[in-house]
Amino acid sequence: MTTIAEEIPEIASYVAGEWHPGPRRSADTNPTHPKETVANTTLADAALARRAVEAARAAFPMWRATLATARGDFLRKAGDLLDARAEQIGRDLTREEGKTLDEAVREVRLGANIFRYYAVQALDPDGETYPSGRPNLFLYTKREPLGVVSVITPWNFPACIPAWKIAPALAFGNTVVWKPADLVPLTAVHIARAVLDAGLPSGVLNLVLGKGSEVGDTLVTHPDVAAVTFTGSNAVGRGLQAKAAASGKRVQLELGGKNPAIVLQDADLDFAAEQVARGAFLATGQKCTATSRVIVQRSVAAEIVDRLRAHAESWTVGDPLDPKTKIGPIVSSAQLDSVLRYLEQARRDGARAVAGGERAGGPLGDGYFVKPTVFVDVAPTNPIAREEIFGPVAAVLPVASYEDAVALANDTPYGLSASIFTNDLATAHRFAQDIRAGVVKVNQETSGIEYHVPFGGVKESSSGSREQGKAAREFFTESKTVYMNFPAPTARA
Ligand code: NAD
Repeated sequence: MTTIAEEIPEIASYVAGEWHPGPRRSADTNPTHPKETVANTTLADAALARRAVEAARAAFPMWRATLATARGDFLRKAGDLLDARAEQIGRDLTREEGKTLDEAVREVRLGANIFRYYAVQALDPDGETYPSGRPNLFLYTKREPLGVVSVITPWNFPACIPAWKIAPALAFGNTVVWKPADLVPLTAVHIARAVLDAGLPSGVLNLVLGKGSEVGDTLVTHPDVAAVTFTGSNAVGRGLQAKAAASGKRVQLELGGKNPAIVLQDADLDFAAEQVARGAFLATGQKCTATSRVIVQRSVAAEIVDRLRAHAESWTVGDPLDPKTKIGPIVSSAQLDSVLRYLEQARRDGARAVAGGERAGGPLGDGYFVKPTVFVDVAPTNPIAREEIFGPVAAVLPVASYEDAVALANDTPYGLSASIFTNDLATAHRFAQDIRAGVVKVNQETSGIEYHVPFGGVKESSSGSREQGKAAREFFTESKTVYMNFPAPTARA
């Protein structure tokens, strides 16, 4: 099977219906074998980003006038193409991002389903009718597209996060300028090519490969941009929210998490430990919804720690293209350094690693691997109990009771995902009410979401709007209220 890197020697931005090399070269490297270049990339500058916004602006009147059925047909075809290419795209995704091939292929297929889902959503009701207080008046609302939407995405789900922003933006009649994270340009080109190969007219989707520091301001502040949808870190997200809001743009932020899994003493401990391990270690812990705090009722803490240690020690860390591997590398050397700093700091602050706690080297060479890690004796003030790590690291925090567990779970600025393991239905319902999180799971890992229901966080994890499902229409359209007094009545006197 050829990879796109073999087909396209140098990957580039796609603006106004053409591939445009940018002025700066960059190597897209493989975190498993850091000396291997996966693709040679050229990065856009602010001038090319401006052209992308202008192209999207120029295409908007045509795209908003395109029948919703036709827009849906483009999206369905894009989804089918993604599905047909899932193995090839998944391979390149694994090579540049490091998640296992199985996870990567499933992510691309999920992206395909999201495109097909919004193909159908394009035909859902886009307004309401109301009875009027006046005779002869037809009173209704209609949702309309916003215009140019800047889509800014992270590296950790490089296929499905772009899909869940781009597909609804296009379905509801907007045009798009998309800036993916610069660590994953190859997957971005694959996704863009699938959408373009579906026959999308020129200018409707523009891809800007570039550094946030160089093209970000243009995409966030350009007067022709109507809205910005962003997923990424809190620092970057809050900064661009301020800039975009200052120029009156609609902004959607999906940010970080510090997600708790609570295990109560009445839970099935084997199942709970397996789910917690999946939430903490799969995708190398590089998920916004990853489990990083394991809040355990003290009476079963030792049993949960034993089971988590057994999972951590038996899961194969290695080349993510190898089917035996469960945990691939951290995405980049900068992220690896950040995770290793947290591990050192955790120990300095008194925590003890009962599994992992260090880089995995040896036969893995200079790849950016970290052993799946379980920390105990973690003070609630320890940074590993408070900050997002984005690595395969679980901190176990014993508590006396349900009440203490929920209080600790809520003691964080974040509020993305949270789960509880219990066999008591009343406690499960109580938890769904007590926990401050946008996604609540009972007897399920904190990760893993379904695309047809709303997704998003509370507190510092989000700007408050919701993505996916029917909720996406709220962000990507605005409502108009029409008072239709027709035929016009005769004048009163
Ligand atoms: P990041 O904030 O570093 O980058 C996100 C995107 O913003 C990238 O495309 C980046 O190039 C761009 N960017 C950087 N500086 C910019 C600027 N000044 N202006 C405009 N754009 C700029 O995040 P990341 O490291 O790619 O992703 C990891 C983070 O994303 C984690 O915090 C994770 O929790 C979060 N995340 C959240 C969700 C969610 O749905 N809540 C999902 C996945 C990831």
